[in-house]
Amino acid sequence: MKTICTLFAILCLLIVNAQDKRDSLPPALSAIQQSELRKDLYELASDKMRGRRAGTLDELRAAAWVAQKAREAGLEPAGNDGTYFQFFPLYRRVVSNESSLEINEKELSLWEEAWTTSPVEANIDESITWLESMADTTLNLQDKVVAMHLIPPSRMPAEGISLWVYRYALSAIREQSAVLKRQNVSAIVLIADSTATSEIGFFGHGFEEGTYAIEPQSRKDQISDTVPVILVSRDWARELQKADSRLSATLKINEFTYPSANVMAKVSGTDAELQEEYVLFSAHHDHDGIGAAVEGDSIWNGADDNATVSVALLAIGRAWKKNPGKRSALFVWHGAEERGLFGSKYFVKNPPVNKDNIVAVLNGDMIGRNNPDAAALLGSIPPHRNSIDLVNMAMAANKQITNFNVDTSWDASSHPEFWYYRSDHLPYAQANIPAIFFSTLLHPDYHTPKDEADKIDIDKLTKMTKWMYGTGWKVSQEENAPVLENE
Ligand SMILES: [Zn+2]
Repeated sequence: MKTICTLFAILCLLIVNAQDKRDSLPPALSAIQQSELRKDLYELASDKMRGRRAGTLDELRAAAWVAQKAREAGLEPAGNDGTYFQFFPLYRRVVSNESSLEINEKELSLWEEAWTTSPVEANIDESITWLESMADTTLNLQDKVVAMHLIPPSRMPAEGISLWVYRYALSAIREQSAVLKRQNVSAIVLIADSTATSEIGFFGHGFEEGTYAIEPQSRKDQISDTVPVILVSRDWARELQKADSRLSATLKINEFTYPSANVMAKVSGTDAELQEEYVLFSAHHDHDGIGAAVEGDSIWNGADDNATVSVALLAIGRAWKKNPGKRSALFVWHGAEERGLFGSKYFVKNPPVNKDNIVAVLNGDMIGRNNPDAAALLGSIPPHRNSIDLVNMAMAANKQITNFNVDTSWDASSHPEFWYYRSDHLPYAQANIPAIFFSTLLHPDYHTPKDEADKIDIDKLTKMTKWMYGTGWKVSQEENAPVLENE
């Protein structure tokens, strides 16, 4: 009899526990459908979207696609003037194709043999001073056009880091030109070394695209940068080292403004008081566009980065619409993230809702690759963590729903990738809003034309979507909003 009683008690306990777990599961979890995620992902990451680069019509096409999907999901518009859009100006400065470059009266083809590393206006017809090494930079170089080989930077990028060659080349160029600029040279010509040459098409395309800002890039701001730095292919080394070699350059600048857009939608909360507060789900809809072909493919599809989270937000929106939470849910698909977190910076500067009413930002960037059982949460350990409450809610949702091994190592301030600083939660965290960042981290296809939909683990994407949804659901339902630390 005693045994039966004990068994009965254990059984009761199990039933109660199971009941507890079921009760607290987010109600519309099953509305997050793998088939819908797959369908949306293949559309948004398709070649038709042409890589969704900010500052082009391709980004606006993607923004319109997201808004249309949000409308179909029954989400209310939350942008300006009753629309789904918060437009903002993207100021671009590019070197005009009317520019010309000659060495010894032989023309260099811009963006194929020569790259101006930032858009600077110039009119030069001068003899070239060849420098053998950095030792020569102590000579009097005032107002001279100097040329030399690119040399490796003193601080090499960490081994195995993403976009290694790009970082190598950029820091080599920066470091070397900074020394030369201090000598008041009038122009700098650097000959690409073999390392830089191996990916010059890729990062050279970035130079061709120019610079972007959400404030006008006035001439005053450019004063510190009036010395043209021109990277040339190795074929020009001999020409540059001839006695009496000469550079003739006419560099013209185009400045123009192009719209970018945050797409915004919401589901109002059900609680009369708490509905004034928002759980903000964050993604970015832009990517890198079209560049130099890699193995015949010139479209940077950005399937993982960040079509995955863009479609995750649509799925969460559908679930939320089916079963709204107490607090309101705000869905923001930022524009121009890849150009410098511009959409989120603009949102924080021009918040369409009272910033104090945003109780948490749940950002995601790249959530469909790597080990199926592991995922990362950034903003989860000091010094990046700004709300232990919010982190605890995310960890509880993971335990309850998804059971990922949560990797927080990329959140360490010593991590060489500085991953925490590279997505849209950052401007919100800097504005003292509790914020976390969901990611499944980098992979070799990151920022290449190989980041395509067929490489996405749809099971994992579905689970990550559920994790973000489950976390947001907790934030929405708890009586107290997550508290900010260190305030
Ligand atoms: Zn991204």
